[in-house]
Amino acid sequence: MRITVLGKSPAWQDADGACSGYLVADDDYRLLLDCGNGVFSKLRRFCDYVDVDAVVISHLHADHILDLIPYASALTYAPRQQPVPVARWPGTDDPARPLLYVPAGGGDALRRICVAAGMREGHVEGAFELREYDPGDVLELGDLRVRFHPVPHFLPTCAVDVASGSGRFTYGADSAPNDELVRFADGTDLLLIEATLPRPEREGPRGHLTPSEAGEHGSRARVRRLVLTHISDELDEGWARTEAERAFGGPVDVAHEGAVFTV
Ligand SMILES: [Zn+2]
Ligand SMILES: [Zn+2]
Repeated sequence: MRITVLGKSPAWQDADGACSGYLVADDDYRLLLDCGNGVFSKLRRFCDYVDVDAVVISHLHADHILDLIPYASALTYAPRQQPVPVARWPGTDDPARPLLYVPAGGGDALRRICVAAGMREGHVEGAFELREYDPGDVLELGDLRVRFHPVPHFLPTCAVDVASGSGRFTYGADSAPNDELVRFADGTDLLLIEATLPRPEREGPRGHLTPSEAGEHGSRARVRRLVLTHISDELDEGWARTEAERAFGGPVDVAHEGAVFTV
């Protein structure tokens, strides 16, 4: 299983960057995990968008879903998706329509976004085969087994675990410090975990992690490899890595666009 980082920015993009998006490839199966703003163009550098089999969304924050809109536009309007010949494309009776798994309420949220943005209400639903998942669901996608576990954040959010014959990859999504992720990720081969904050939130409920807290989660979950993500280019990467490594007790990577991890 290969995990390619398409975008690792937090809620605002790095210079020339993209928000959350990770391409998971296993044999011929391609799974896109989150589709934040900027991700669709980055996806096209690594994979033809009609070859993505499924998209899984961890939660409905803008930085994890907004590029579903242009992705749906491509699937709807691209010449090669049409039933008749257009330009150099021969026409198709079988246009690509990837599976799209969203949290409960995701269908309605996407409809409202489409309407507010002047698109047809069913713009996304018409382009993808949309399904809402419950945290208890287990998805069998190709040879991938996908599981979910709720983690504390500002709205319902699931960490996502992807297992194949070759190994196991766990994505923490966005979360406050919590024990659930530690249990869910226990013993995984690779934990991709957010490290958004330079210091804990000054006020209000917690919703994100510092690099040190990310390292501590990795240590407690006894993961084999730890990668920080959802971190701005406005933070010092060296500082973040050092903080995380001290808490993890071993080497830690920081996600970069285009980085590939294999498990
Ligand atoms: Zn979020
Ligand atoms: Zn986020």
